[in-house]
Amino acid sequence: MKRLVILGAGESGVGTALLAKAKGYNVFVSDKGKIKEKYKEVLIHNEIEWEEEQHTEVKILNANLVMKSPGIPDKVALIQKLISNNIPVISEIEFASKYTNATIVGITGSNGKTTTASLTHHILKQELNVGLAGNIGDSFAKQILEEDYKNYVLEISSFQLDGIVDFKPNIAVLTNITPDHLDRYDYKFENYINSKFRIALNQTKEDYLIYDADDEVITNWLKQNTIQSTLLPFSLKKTFENGAYLDKENIKITIDNIEIIMPTKNLALEGKHNIKNAMAASTVSHLLKIRKQTIRESLENFHGVEHRLEQVLKINKVQYINDSKATNVNATYYALESMDAPTVWIVGGVDKGNDYTELFPFINEKVKAIICLGVDNEKLMENFSNMVDVIVETQFMSEAVKIAYKVAEAGDNVLLSPACASFDLFENYEDRGRQFKNAVRNL
Ligand code: ADP
Repeated sequence: MKRLVILGAGESGVGTALLAKAKGYNVFVSDKGKIKEKYKEVLIHNEIEWEEEQHTEVKILNANLVMKSPGIPDKVALIQKLISNNIPVISEIEFASKYTNATIVGITGSNGKTTTASLTHHILKQELNVGLAGNIGDSFAKQILEEDYKNYVLEISSFQLDGIVDFKPNIAVLTNITPDHLDRYDYKFENYINSKFRIALNQTKEDYLIYDADDEVITNWLKQNTIQSTLLPFSLKKTFENGAYLDKENIKITIDNIEIIMPTKNLALEGKHNIKNAMAASTVSHLLKIRKQTIRESLENFHGVEHRLEQVLKINKVQYINDSKATNVNATYYALESMDAPTVWIVGGVDKGNDYTELFPFINEKVKAIICLGVDNEKLMENFSNMVDVIVETQFMSEAVKIAYKVAEAGDNVLLSPACASFDLFENYEDRGRQFKNAVRNL
């Protein structure tokens, strides 16, 4: 019996354990931290051997195969030991994809993965049997075991891609590449770029890569490297024979002379970045033969995902917007770009080596006040003090929202778009977004 060791008992680890057990593996799950109660119960109920708060090396080094949670960096000593012992270390999608014949849509990129994956799923589910997995919801492995959909839309992080060998999506989407998570890539942007392009590593010409042709990081990489995938670009600036582009106020998608036209004003989602996400999702849907009318209607009634430019409430004609998921500058760039009124901007948290320069034009043009919400606001104060009349610091969400309420006037927006990670004051970005929404509702 083959022995599979799973490092990390989160959603992907526990899902893999269940699938592997059903496929006849001897499974051992090991987590260096405490395992959540709900996962422990699943492991116990399914009689899967596990340990927590330790990695017992003798039990791990006798594995035939190791599945590691995306959260564990390759650098750690245990992973290095496994590699030097020639024990393959793979990710959940690599393991799970061996057990399904489904058509796979794999979506990666620095920003827009969840939005694009959710929108794609929203369109496809109108006509197809399709699951949504990866970084979203129930794990891919668990869904293969329990539902066995005919199609999957997978949101895939670079860490998941680092652990693939044979995995390939039939349709890949690369939304954009901007510097992120560089601590996991020896602080080399090129390593992170190469990691993202692993989405196309095993693709052949029957498979598609849909990508942002306005993103120079992507187009330069494609000029310098060869991949087999059939390329389908999307762009707000260029036009193509095959691909998605803007024709005046319409999105046009042309594949093999079949055209879909959609007025951008009919999109429920706002912002230029969401036009791109809609282009990507519609191109996937077009390839999978979803009817044009279905695609158009689905784009009209998809109102987005929580914490992504989420419209919370209008109070005294001031619109409150929760973009807590903007954990990097690029995401905030699109948030500020999409603001159509004077904006009180709540920003801050754990800085990831941010360069704010690209935001300056929007700040000059639209931002009337800045509320710095973080333990260390020094860099924000240095960057922005001279740019706005009102700039204040706080370490409490409720206070930030109260200040915003005082400063904002009828017709303004109050935008939480932190451009930073949340771990200094919050559990995670969801916690930050929920605290914002609660504070707004309590006004
Ligand atoms: P991811 O799953 O890649 O983190 P999300 O869809 O959760 O992406 O969005 C994360 C943040 O990025 C949000 O603030 C969202 O408004 C913004 N965003 C969404 N799509 C894009 C895009 N195509 N380009 C840049 N930013 C985007």
